Amino acid sequence: MPVNTIPPVDLVRQYKLISDEIDRAVLEVVRSGRYIGGTIVSDFEQQLAEYVGSSYCVGCNSGTDALYLALRALNISAGDEVITTPFTFIATAETISLVGAKPVFVDIEQDTFNIDIEAIAAAITPQTKAIIPVHLFGQPLNMARLMDIAQKHNLYVIEDCAQSTGAKWGDDRVGNIGHIGCFSFFPTKNLGTCGDGGAVTTNDPAIAQSIRVIKEHGSAQRYYHDVVGINSRLDSIQAAILRVKLSYLDQWNEQRRKIAQRYHQLLAPIAGIQRPQEIKGGYHVWNQYTILVKNKSNPEKTTRDDLKEKLQEKGIISMIYYPIPLHLQKVYQNLGYQKGAFPVTEQAADEVLSLPMFPDLSLEEQEQVTYALKDD
Ligand SMILES: *Cc1c(COP(=O)(O)O)cnc(C)c1O
Repeated sequence: MPVNTIPPVDLVRQYKLISDEIDRAVLEVVRSGRYIGGTIVSDFEQQLAEYVGSSYCVGCNSGTDALYLALRALNISAGDEVITTPFTFIATAETISLVGAKPVFVDIEQDTFNIDIEAIAAAITPQTKAIIPVHLFGQPLNMARLMDIAQKHNLYVIEDCAQSTGAKWGDDRVGNIGHIGCFSFFPTKNLGTCGDGGAVTTNDPAIAQSIRVIKEHGSAQRYYHDVVGINSRLDSIQAAILRVKLSYLDQWNEQRRKIAQRYHQLLAPIAGIQRPQEIKGGYHVWNQYTILVKNKSNPEKTTRDDLKEKLQEKGIISMIYYPIPLHLQKVYQNLGYQKGAFPVTEQAADEVLSLPMFPDLSLEEQEQVTYALKDD
């Protein structure tokens, strides 16, 4: 590998900038002997609720658990259908299956990689209970339009905000527009911790209470179990780290936006590449900067794969989110979708390439990425 390798994300660089605060916060927990729950966790829940604008926030073990808990709290189970996108991380659909319900996929829009809102209505059946939109790569969905459709059909909306903490539609933060917001604090997310973590936000007290019960073994009162639950905790150490990092989130998201703008200018002259754009009305937080590399009809290998290799030879690590759409995954063969079912998604899977993107990526590094993409 060349010496000046550019990684997709550099977590050490970020840690070094705030290491004093993080170290102090972690040591405080270790020295306190209070490792599970406590005020550190409830303080963070309150901080995140305030940040998102929601009345309630419940911490949990991961973004995956957040989605699972949201579905359970809405009593979604066998016989129910939930509409979502096939172009997302597996957790979005997996949790629908885990509660016994059926994921129903709808194609995406090419411009945003997000679920095609206008195509949702055709997928609604009498069994449909909810929609799970994903604000993919940090780009918020047109939530006003989505909520119109959901209200018209009396459906719940669970926002998958795993990649979009801090994003806004209009003046509202994602996670506070649908009925429930689900967040992940996996290290590479916009608000990432030093391990696993997640949270659920809502304005409905009954949903918040139900989530608290289910995440604590189905018990509201210790040793009295009313429903089948799980153990899903946001660790005190992770909450302590997240409290520090949440105070930097707006600044980091602004840095991501500047970097996205710089890429937009730098990549403009390069042929064969489609650059991502922020949609009007949305505040994009750029968890990923994902370009489309247009194919030059080679059946053996996509142009995108060639470009990825070329970048790698020059020390630049790019990523493919996501190479196989969910409707074509082995686990979902039973749903009966064929290749060709969602053409926009399938083409995106062949053409997407996510370039290095993190708040401290330098201009020099972005120029290096640009040169590597350019020369043949
Ligand atoms: C990361 C992610 C999740 C799952 O979050 P974990 O904390 O890793 O469980 C869910 N949905 C999307 C879109 C994600 O990117």
